[in-house]
Amino acid sequence: MPTNVLRDRKRTAYFWGVLLAIPVLLLIWLMRPEEGFIRWLYPLFILLCASWAWRLLHQTNLARIERETIAATTVFFTLKFVYYLFWGSLEHNWVEIESTYWVMAFVMVLAYIVLDARMGLVYSLVLAAVTLALGLLRLGGEVALGQYQAEFLSFVRNQMRLFAMAGLLYALAIVKDQLAHAHQQVEQMHTLARTDPLTSLPNRLALSELLEEASHRIHGVYVVLLDIDRFKQINDRFGHAAGDDVLKEVGRRLRTSLRKSDMLGRWGGEEFMIIMRGDNQHEVLAAVERLREDIAFWPFEKVGAVSASFGVAQGHIGDSIHNLVERADKVLYQAKSLGRNRVEISPA
Ligand code: GH3
Ligand code: MG
Ligand code: MG
Repeated sequence: MPTNVLRDRKRTAYFWGVLLAIPVLLLIWLMRPEEGFIRWLYPLFILLCASWAWRLLHQTNLARIERETIAATTVFFTLKFVYYLFWGSLEHNWVEIESTYWVMAFVMVLAYIVLDARMGLVYSLVLAAVTLALGLLRLGGEVALGQYQAEFLSFVRNQMRLFAMAGLLYALAIVKDQLAHAHQQVEQMHTLARTDPLTSLPNRLALSELLEEASHRIHGVYVVLLDIDRFKQINDRFGHAAGDDVLKEVGRRLRTSLRKSDMLGRWGGEEFMIIMRGDNQHEVLAAVERLREDIAFWPFEKVGAVSASFGVAQGHIGDSIHNLVERADKVLYQAKSLGRNRVEISPA
């Protein structure tokens, strides 16, 4: 799945998650007004959730929103943990303390999704260690005196769960990172296999795929083939490296002149192909004529004047891509035999 699609899905999932959290928090706030922390600080967290929902809709930097959400949630629920641990009766507060553990486990999962495996592990271990230290500080002495046995058991269970989750999530995150790395390599190889190393333009394989795609709606598709004139002489007179530079410069000039939607690639040797869509044949021909001038008008470094010949063919309903390319090729050679440095279009 492409990275941007994945990011959009993540964004949608976060948005609905945050939106769902708002009524849940609101309900807790309405139902437990007697709890100081809930009464005073939940409205703040509800506002934070609303601001995240807004940012998820309007801001582009998803990674930043993710990190800030994790940081703010961690601070908020650690405060809640400290408040219920050290204020008031532990028996009365234990439900809130236990629910905070669940939120922390949830934020741990989020941290592993957002951060890499190592940072996820560091985050989880610090969180588990801080809660352990706070819990021991509060309960250690009391338990030694024989009090809060049930709460202590629950505390140990929750801490064990938190540490176990940290380890398990780390193992999963390593697998996730390896998969992501493998996926990245496959994508790189895919791009490499479709890129001409000399000009950095799409190569023949990439062009063939683009042609295949274009063939589904062939009407209005134009295939332009161009071949540098007397290129062998350039190689012979100035050397192969100078010839290479000419190929690169021709590619650059073509790309600069074309629209973003026009597809340009190196078809082979000193031949380039452009696949474009157009409603008006005159406009397309004028554009191709401009490309011819862009090459022929300005001298090239070291080698001087260079020109190219162009063959243009237009796709019609019922046409085949193979036929279209063949027609462009045929008129290209007509352009050559008519004297080179010219554009020829295939009759419909
Ligand atoms: P025409 O005007 O009829 O097209 O003549 P031409 O000399 O351009 O045509 P020909 O097909 O005889 O020569 C093409 C030359 O392009 C031959 C080949 O050595 C050279 N060539 C092909 N690929 C490359 C390349 O990547 N770099 C360089 N420097 N030369 C290349
Ligand atoms: Mg040539
Ligand atoms: Mg050639």
